Amino acid sequence: MKKVLLHICCGVCAFSCIEKLRKEDFCLEGFFFNPNIYPYQEYRKRREALKAAEEILSIRVSEGRYENSAWISYCKLYSAEPEGGKRCEKCFEIRLQETFRLMQKKNFDYFTTTLTISPHKNSFLINKIGERIGGERFLQRDFKKKDGFKRTQELSKQYGLYRQNYCGCVYSMEKKTDSRHQR
Ligand code: SF4
Repeated sequence: MKKVLLHICCGVCAFSCIEKLRKEDFCLEGFFFNPNIYPYQEYRKRREALKAAEEILSIRVSEGRYENSAWISYCKLYSAEPEGGKRCEKCFEIRLQETFRLMQKKNFDYFTTTLTISPHKNSFLINKIGERIGGERFLQRDFKKKDGFKRTQELSKQYGLYRQNYCGCVYSMEKKTDSRHQR
């Protein structure tokens, strides 16, 4: 059985991706590495939600370092970019690069990410970045397809998991607050 290190952005997104990869007969381990998330309380909420999912799904998950200030210094050049622009590209790259590094260290066969499950994220771009980093060892997937997003929402609701209302970084959080004020 081939081993896959799955980068996980949050508990909600994990459900359907894990289900799909297990159907492909992969042996999975998760990796929660999301230094983009701001503030730290929000990071903890998402980590705790994933811990609940870990038990339900019987999956082992390791946690990367939370260094939000380092993430900001890499991405602040693109702070004014809209969601889906260059900042997100950098953000995907940082997370996939670290997942690739850990996959090699653990001697796994492949790596991939739950990020493509979001209808707000460009799966083509994510897959391109993954391939650039890991070549054939990156499993190119589009988890939102075949009702993947709908399924993950249903499962997370069923188990009462915490569901965030912004992507994660300080810029996406501010955007959310601004749009609320403009209403
Ligand atoms: S909007 Fe989301 S993907 Fe884009 S930089 Fe922020 S956290 Fe990363």
